[in-house]
Formats: sequence, structure tokens, C-alpha cells
Amino acid sequence: MKFIIHGSAGRMGAQLIAAVENSKGNHTVAACVDIMYREHPVVGGAYPCYASLSEFGGEADCIIDFSNHITTIPLLEYAVERKIPVMLATTGQTEEEKAAITDAAAKIPLFRAANMSLGIATLCSLVKTAVCMFPDADIEIVEKHHNQKLDVPSGTALALADAVKAVREEADFVVGRHENGKRRKEEVGIHSLRLGGVVGEHEVIITTGNETLTLKHEAHSRAVFADGAVLAAVYTADQKVPGLYTMEDLVAACK
Ligand code: NAD
Repeated sequence: MKFIIHGSAGRMGAQLIAAVENSKGNHTVAACVDIMYREHPVVGGAYPCYASLSEFGGEADCIIDFSNHITTIPLLEYAVERKIPVMLATTGQTEEEKAAITDAAAKIPLFRAANMSLGIATLCSLVKTAVCMFPDADIEIVEKHHNQKLDVPSGTALALADAVKAVREEADFVVGRHENGKRRKEEVGIHSLRLGGVVGEHEVIITTGNETLTLKHEAHSRAVFADGAVLAAVYTADQKVPGLYTMEDLVAACK
């Protein structure tokens, strides 16, 4: 398969190119797209590079996107127009951009995940089980990332919040608690730390008062996201019908 790497000059770009080259199967990079590709020519130097998707009219089986949420709408317009499936890993989308994702998924196969690691997919499933087991427990979500990360809280922390909400409907999320006062029963805190080069850490802490269960995932290298993204891109390109596909679908397909 041939993939367009969108955001190829970023932190994830080089990892993605390596993941495509090292993946099982006859996969290659069709094009590297990044507004900064001239400033960072080394990454993707072996492949045709463009500043914008609209400059590329060649064949591709899927667009792998790790860029910036402001590109989500134009990227989806291009993909729908050209009927190219999309593997969207960029986080931090606005409500308008999320609506565009839903619309596009009615027309093309579209995979979206805030975290491409299979470990995080497992964590989400464990969180649902634990929250069911301890219906009265206090729950807090803590995430740590490098000091260049733009979105707060991380998309993965929000995905973990969704996992909590799936089994505890009354959960009321408080981002970065800062007001005086006791913790409300239904409150679930989400806390974001930004430190040096931390690749990504997520913790869900569940406390009954008598015991504490901490579910934690640490990404040691960005390669984990790149490998998951290539796996997901192959899965997305293989889909015969439009739809919004997630890590749950990918994990189910791997079983
Ligand atoms: P980065 O800032 O290092 O790279 C982003 C790249 O996108 C930059 O090179 C930038 O020039 C490019 N870009 C920005 N606007 C563009 C445009 N209009 N057209 C073309 N290129 C454009 O960021 P990063 O650390 O590589 O992360 C990128 C995104 O992926 C972020 O949203 C991040 O949160 C997300 N991410 C997701 C996962 C996951 O598993 N889902 C993992 C890591 C990062």
C-alpha cells in the first residue's frame, strides 16, 4: 500500500516513515506533506515532498495524519474529493472540526484515535472494568507530556474520560481543579503536567478510601504511535464501506 504522511516534518513524521519502511507487507510512502518541509528537508528526503495536500495528485491508499487540528477540515475535503481513506491521529479538534469528521466518515473510511498505542486501547478497556467494580470510588485522571504539546488535556486523557463516562453516567469532569471546596461525589478530575521531553504518561487513579487502584500507561518512544498508526492505516485502507473506525475495531480485528 502507498501512504501519504501528513505532518511529515514534525516529531512524529520521521517515526512514521520508518514505521512504514519497517512494516510487514509491501508498504511505501507515496508523499510527504508538511508546510515546513523545506525547513526540515532531511525527514522524508527520499520521497516526494509537498507543502500542501492539494499539490499531490498521485495514487495513495490512505492518508496518515499527525499534524495540527487546523488542517482537519481541508484534509477531509481533499480526502473525500479524492475518495482516499484517512487515519487521523491529530488531536485537539474543535466542535466544528469534530462535526466535519462525522460528515466525512459517512463518505470514506475514517479511522480516528487519540492514542495509537495498543497499550492505551487495553487501558481504556481496563478502566471500564475497574469503574464498574468500584461504583462509589473517587476517580482522577493524570496525564504528563513534553513541554511542546499544544492541546490540554491530552486527547488520550479525554478518551479515558469517555471510558469512565461509558460506565459512570453521572461523572462530571473537572479540568485542572483550581477552586476551593470539597470534592463532589460525581467529580472526576483531569490533570495535565507538561515536563521536558515526556513522550506520554496516563494514569487513572481509583480510590475507595480503603484501597487505591492505579492503572498506568507509559509510552517510552514515539515509535509505539507510529507502529500503531501504520497498522491502523492498513486496516482503514482495507475497509470496503465508509464509517468512523476506532482502536476498538482494530483490536477486535487483531483477535
Ligand atoms: P509537531 O508539531 O512536531 O508536528 C506537526 C507537523 O504538522 C509540523 O511539522 C507542522 O509543520 C505540520 N503542519 C502544521 N500545519 C500544517 C498544514 N496546514 N499543512 C501541512 N502540515 C502542517 O507535532 P507532533 O508531536 O508530531 O504531533 C502532531 C499531532 O499528532 C498532534 O496533534 C499530537 O497531539 C498528535 N499525536 C497523536 C498521537 C496518537 O497516538 N494519536 C501520538 C502523538 C501525537
